[in-house]
Amino acid sequence: MAELTPMMAQYMKTKEEYRDCILFYRLGDFYEMFFDDAITVSKELELTLTGKACGLEERAPMCGVPYHAAESYLNRLVSKGYKVAICEQVEDPKLSKGLVKREVIRIVTPGTNLDASMLDDGRNNFLMCIVYTTNSIGLSIADISTGEFYTTEVDTFRGIMDEIYKYAPSEIICNDAFTVSGFDITQIKERLQICISPLDDWYFNDDTATQTVLEHFRVKQLEGLGLSDFPVGTVASGALLTYLEQTQKNDLGQMTSIHPYRIGKFMIIDSFTRRNLELIETMREKQKRGSLFWVLDKTKTAMGARMLRSFIEQPLLNVEAIKQRQDAIEELMKDMISREEIREYLTPVYDLERLISRVTYQNANPRDLISFKTSLSMLPAIKTILSEFHSDLLRNLNEQLDPLEDIHALIERSIVDEPPLLVREGGIIKEGYHTEVDRLKTAKNEGTSWLAGLEEKEREKTGIKNLKIKFNKVFGYYLEVTNSYKDLVPEYYMRKQTLTNAERYITPELKEMEDTILGAQDRLVGLEYDLFCEIRSSIAKEVVRIQQTAKAIALLDVLCSLAQVAEQNNYCRPVVNEKGKIEITKGRHPVVEKMISNDLFISNDTYLDHNKKRVAIITGPNMAGKSTYMRQCALIVLMAQIGSFVPAEKAKIGIVDRIFTRVGASDDLSSGQSTFMVEMNEVANILRNATSDSLLILDEIGRGTSTFDGLSIAWAVVEHISNPKLLGAKTLFATHYHELTELEGKLDNVTNYCVAVKENGDDIVFLRKIVPGGADKSYGIQVAKLAGVPDGVIERAKQIAGELATQDITERVKAIAEENGKKETKKNVPDAMDMAQISLFDVMNDDDILEEIKELEIGNMTPVDALNKLYEIQCKI
Ligand code: ADP
Repeated sequence: MAELTPMMAQYMKTKEEYRDCILFYRLGDFYEMFFDDAITVSKELELTLTGKACGLEERAPMCGVPYHAAESYLNRLVSKGYKVAICEQVEDPKLSKGLVKREVIRIVTPGTNLDASMLDDGRNNFLMCIVYTTNSIGLSIADISTGEFYTTEVDTFRGIMDEIYKYAPSEIICNDAFTVSGFDITQIKERLQICISPLDDWYFNDDTATQTVLEHFRVKQLEGLGLSDFPVGTVASGALLTYLEQTQKNDLGQMTSIHPYRIGKFMIIDSFTRRNLELIETMREKQKRGSLFWVLDKTKTAMGARMLRSFIEQPLLNVEAIKQRQDAIEELMKDMISREEIREYLTPVYDLERLISRVTYQNANPRDLISFKTSLSMLPAIKTILSEFHSDLLRNLNEQLDPLEDIHALIERSIVDEPPLLVREGGIIKEGYHTEVDRLKTAKNEGTSWLAGLEEKEREKTGIKNLKIKFNKVFGYYLEVTNSYKDLVPEYYMRKQTLTNAERYITPELKEMEDTILGAQDRLVGLEYDLFCEIRSSIAKEVVRIQQTAKAIALLDVLCSLAQVAEQNNYCRPVVNEKGKIEITKGRHPVVEKMISNDLFISNDTYLDHNKKRVAIITGPNMAGKSTYMRQCALIVLMAQIGSFVPAEKAKIGIVDRIFTRVGASDDLSSGQSTFMVEMNEVANILRNATSDSLLILDEIGRGTSTFDGLSIAWAVVEHISNPKLLGAKTLFATHYHELTELEGKLDNVTNYCVAVKENGDDIVFLRKIVPGGADKSYGIQVAKLAGVPDGVIERAKQIAGELATQDITERVKAIAEENGKKETKKNVPDAMDMAQISLFDVMNDDDILEEIKELEIGNMTPVDALNKLYEIQCKI
């Protein structure tokens, strides 16, 4: 380092402290980046890479962005997952001797970016901290733009995954232990495109982390925060707060409370199911349109939209809590006029949560305060309307809703109605709020006429008729008297300058006035700024009241939205209980019914219980509506547990603890696993984690392997889930294996259903009705025809099917086996036979088999592959 120029040495020293960040190093009007940072940034942002002499032999790679436009470059880097440390000049370069002092004043990271243009109104921007210990895993989740702060503990990797998918954080920080725990961090990183960074161990020291939490909330004991049973959650929260302090270097006044929760409070929905059921976005396009959120979201405020999203992501388990929401929705539904009125008042309400965060961060501008005022002015009217409602939740909500009239009055009194965006330009403070501001304004605006007044006064007083007040840069304002009137000049005039034909004087009064006029502008701007900051700080002190009100408004917005949707879409209020039955009369799929035109959706009933009707096997041709029906059932249960009304004529829903879905081919192929492997992973997860209170939606299990394996697996899965001693979960099971319908008689709890179709000559018509019984045919060829497979192929398929139909498949298999028994090579196999199965019966001698076993690369096989191979070999013996 000895060779480096002093500036570069300063740069390197700072960079050393912020190794994981890109350093924006302020040099005059630019932020410059050097070395690797410069190379990265020039690539990411397509900036020109130049060089700078740095004292070393080679020039340092360099690129830069102008400081006034830095925000947009910075945002682009952060959204790509980088952390950016902003290193400012902290002393005036004009006044400093030698090298200007510089300091990192802020670190911007994806989970802590507060820039409004980077935040999506309808969703939170969460930062998550994960602390892995061998006993438990602590999670802490915060959104600094709204002040929300949660913590919980889980004990499995799956638990972590579920929470990650629930919150969808934009950044995760963790301890080192987590990075070597075996959790698949790369997968999460790639799939969610987020930045995950381990922090130094000192962040996670039990005592300091706990102390940080206690100090932040100014309490003595963890009990006071409800954290005493969350030791690892507390460490995670402490580490998260420290990280925020380190990066923000700012007041964290908006983080007023922390909410510890137990996973058991909410229905568990794993990541597959969240995606499969398209709760927040569609699976393929990742769009809101087409998701459940899209149907339910008629909220008017950003806070409401975010809360609704969290409702959908966390359905409840407690019947009472669900009923409370239902009561409120029902009341709002009945009183359409009041509801509409409330919604009107909600429309102009800004994002109070994010506004108050900006206020506490001291970066709210004058216009933010006006938005704030506009929002607050709606509150009294909302409160008045709400006072006529009786349901517990609405009454509670009304109590929480503070009209904040004092804050409204303060802004009304102090800030002009249309202030500028910037705080250092003046023009912010209203007349009558502050005498000095008023005086300065008058001075500025009426300066000239004031001078004219003085001129007049002095003329009268002295009798000098041509006395004039003039101005120049050297003397400022002065009184000019021509020589002819010199005798009349009073004693208190102080001579400043003598010209050939006139004298120039000043008076204390004139100088005072001069100060007022010239200084007015400067002082006005400064004073207005100070007053604005004062007002902003006094609002910041009320952060708790404001956040509480914001939450009440958000909840009201959500309830109105759900009431609106229920009314418009003709939903019913489900009876929610803990009896374990699911009884839906004329149920509809909430999203599909909106996507198809003119009420064409065919409703269907569902009945599942803990006795005879535990497992429903659903058969029917492709495209008949099986998966729509099953998802509909899952969505209705989920909606009921959110507290929403549901698309059905009548519904009784016994609370379920988890919903699992295994639907169709997953889009997980990118993860490098085979479709079958992904499918089996999901099945394994379901069988291991489901309970008898869970709802299972299984679609086409076993499709990814040969018919025999697939059928056997599907069969065994149905046996397992239907058996109350093993699992006994309520299940909808769609399958194309007609053989499974035989289970109805064999197993106590299994019932067959099929989707009705009508044959019309060669064609079929989908009736979309679920009826008892198994489907007799699969209609695959008819469906292929509907899909537009060329006629020639269709005809040939029919011909083959005809030939095959004359022989029962099991008989055929037997026949083949017999032939194999005679050790005759079977060559003339029926055309449509599955090649995978045929190979099972090919003749082989023992040496071949031994050879095959020898050649197996056991180390590269998964357990399932090995089992399959073993089965294959067994068949050959
Ligand atoms: P399957 O799972 O049996 O192959 P899907 O559930 O994917 O069939 O349904 C195929 C299509 O049929 C859906 O895209 C939907 O548009 C339509 N559909 C399904 N169920 C209904 C219904 N009850 N009423 C009207 N249209 C339906």
